[in-house]
Amino acid sequence: MNHDQLIREISYCQNCFTCLDACDTFKVTNNIDQSPNGRLKIAEHVFKNEKISDNQLIALYTCTLCASCNLSCPQNIDIAKIIHAAKVQLVVNGEAPLEVHDNIIKDIIEKENSVGGKPEDRLKWLPETYLRDELFEERECDTLLFLGCMSSFRVKESATVPYEILKKAGYNFKILKNEPCCGEYVYSAGELEIAKEMFKHNIELFKKNGIKNIIVTCGGCLYAFDNVYRKYFKEFDINVRHVVDVIHELMKQDKLAFKGLNKTITYHDPCRLGRKYHKKALYSGPRELLEKCGVVIKELVQDHDKCPCCGAGSGIRGVDSTICIKIGKDLFDKLETSELVSSCPLCVFNFRYVNYKNNMDKESKYITDYVLESIK
Ligand code: SF4
Ligand code: SF4
Repeated sequence: MNHDQLIREISYCQNCFTCLDACDTFKVTNNIDQSPNGRLKIAEHVFKNEKISDNQLIALYTCTLCASCNLSCPQNIDIAKIIHAAKVQLVVNGEAPLEVHDNIIKDIIEKENSVGGKPEDRLKWLPETYLRDELFEERECDTLLFLGCMSSFRVKESATVPYEILKKAGYNFKILKNEPCCGEYVYSAGELEIAKEMFKHNIELFKKNGIKNIIVTCGGCLYAFDNVYRKYFKEFDINVRHVVDVIHELMKQDKLAFKGLNKTITYHDPCRLGRKYHKKALYSGPRELLEKCGVVIKELVQDHDKCPCCGAGSGIRGVDSTICIKIGKDLFDKLETSELVSSCPLCVFNFRYVNYKNNMDKESKYITDYVLESIK
């Protein structure tokens, strides 16, 4: 979309301010610049090549790109898309991203992960028992279990447990010894050209390894592969699924035997598996899976599309961690259970961070923990 089209879309805004109630970053800051409406106005300055202030730059970079505002706007303005496009333009102008993003992107290029992990530690999630027989790239298989940076380094059980469940179900898949970063962080930061180079490199890697199906554990990887890669590379024809969807299918095929756990938890819908995944949103699958495990689910909100953001999308923790902590605290205050469950390791990681920072006693888990406990 060119700038004239984006400016035209912004001009449809009627300043009704309905979107303010949908935006978690506005709710915790009460700063109009950090609202969807405010960010649209800043974006308009960017597209008109007008100078923006440092605070306005931060306002764009504290947007989680959760797309909650999009659903609330009576004018159907794709606000998250416009905010992202403004970041891309700021990078082109040499005014962005921020130093924190530059450092992380440098790490991604050098170490092939977005969390500063040592490349040699990437496979430390893989239990010794499996490591012995793992063939990695050498395995004849067109289905790849792609773990991503958060699962590999930060929330390791979201790599280990899905791997183990798929093995138990006799599912045929392979993993890569030299797995790259999906590039979602780079894309979200507005570094479009670097991101596109990464996508191209990864597509070639998948092709070289004969991959026709990718199973991911992370919402960010799902969004990147199934939305962003397809947008820029029309030839990208790999089938992409979240591991929860795959395990849900195995459940329906009676490939796993479940026993009841008798627990009550709150399930959180990650935006990249939910409203940002549009018609393919994974709402019923994770719930049916948890129910099959004997887990009773308390809902945060009745309309799953309106689930609050975890507070960490688009790397905002590095820009302003206080926003992230406050959003997480507001979410925790709504909980009626001590356990909070998500299908995205980034959300789980942030919930643990928020719990620690606010000195709370909530436990945050990745969804497959319950499946493994139930099928053991
Ligand atoms: S995408 Fe999310 S954080 Fe960004 S302006 Fe919209 S509601 Fe607020
Ligand atoms: S809801 Fe839509 S029309 Fe209303 S202020 Fe927000 S962006 Fe503008």
